[in-house]
Amino acid sequence: MLTFEYKCSQCEAVFEITPELMLCPECEPGKKSGEPLKGVLEVELNGAPISNDPLDYLPIEREFFPKMPVGNTPLWHPVRLMKKHDFSELYFKDDGLNPTGSLKDRASLLVAAFARKNDIDEVVVASTGNAGSSMSGVGAAAGLKVKLFLPKTAPPAKMIQSLQYGADLVLAEKNYDQAFALSIQYSKKFGGMNRNTAYNPMTIEGKKTVSIEIFNQLGRVPDHVFVSVGDGVILSGLYKGFRDLLKFKKIPRMPEIHAIQATGSSAIFKAMSSGQFQEQSAETVADSISVNTPSNGYLALKNLKSYGGHCITLTDEEILSAQKDLSSSCGLFSEPAAAAAYAGFTKQKKNLDSNSTCVVLLTGNGLKDINSASKNIVMPQKTINSLDELY
Ligand SMILES: *Cc1c(COP(=O)(O)O)cnc(C)c1O
Repeated sequence: MLTFEYKCSQCEAVFEITPELMLCPECEPGKKSGEPLKGVLEVELNGAPISNDPLDYLPIEREFFPKMPVGNTPLWHPVRLMKKHDFSELYFKDDGLNPTGSLKDRASLLVAAFARKNDIDEVVVASTGNAGSSMSGVGAAAGLKVKLFLPKTAPPAKMIQSLQYGADLVLAEKNYDQAFALSIQYSKKFGGMNRNTAYNPMTIEGKKTVSIEIFNQLGRVPDHVFVSVGDGVILSGLYKGFRDLLKFKKIPRMPEIHAIQATGSSAIFKAMSSGQFQEQSAETVADSISVNTPSNGYLALKNLKSYGGHCITLTDEEILSAQKDLSSSCGLFSEPAAAAAYAGFTKQKKNLDSNSTCVVLLTGNGLKDINSASKNIVMPQKTINSLDELY
């Protein structure tokens, strides 16, 4: 049996889990404008899980989860790319195969269960696109209302997807950071559970299931995991899952985690050397990792530093070329933010043992952003009436 409580990732104060508490009340006010959130809470587990089922590691009982096939995504060998890179133990974990097409469903599922357990019927969320379409879809399955704040520049497919699921969509004029602030004002004023990434502790906790699945599927801890990073919540969820496994002695050590950022949105990369977060004006083709201020920056940095993680950046060209390589070499069409993780592997591989077990986490489906995907292909320019016109 397990019991659960919140622990502040900064001051380590512990709190009872309630839907009213989102950040540590002591640390939160220390945040200055343009800085990541302070006082992000993590879920602390006490006791022992009854099985290796990821659901047994989560703080909300199964009965509150909407019936939806989230997680259990395939872990597989991309054989042609293994030959190309000469790596014998390369795996892809394809989280683009979640119901709404991204890893975000893992967080949305736990948030939906948390809301249902507490009789809350509306979820409020700001997103670059995927968290919003995910919460909208999972919310639909759970019978929850969803109030969604997106930047007006979000890819149309992600807006349309959210509207299909029935979300009430509000567009912020400026950017994601503005949508984030507006959604917090909204939930403070009108109620509902706020699902903003890092702000709601269940977002980190929900995403940890990916690590437990990787462990179950491999039967061991991988040597290296590659993950793309914007706000730093998937990264911290990955660490959290492996940390729980370490705590319960299921694995002997942490994997080396490689955090991949876009050159045009690299706040965490810069903070790795400077120790500080400077507000940036993010610009990258990989919209899901485009953030001015990473909301979970402090915890992401702390995790990378404590466990010997790495952070590298890649240009938009490198990301788009990795996207094409993935699609054309193994039939895996992923959005640029997801392909960035694979681009990171190709950049880091010279530093790695070619027999080491490497897992590349592919976080989102390519159909979510066809504008970006169309940048590195050539559409046929003319139509024909007869095959004679071909040559
Ligand atoms: C959200 C997202 C990321 C980045 O996750 P963060 O928690 O913001 O670092 C990466 N890839 C995809 C496809 C995403 O939707």
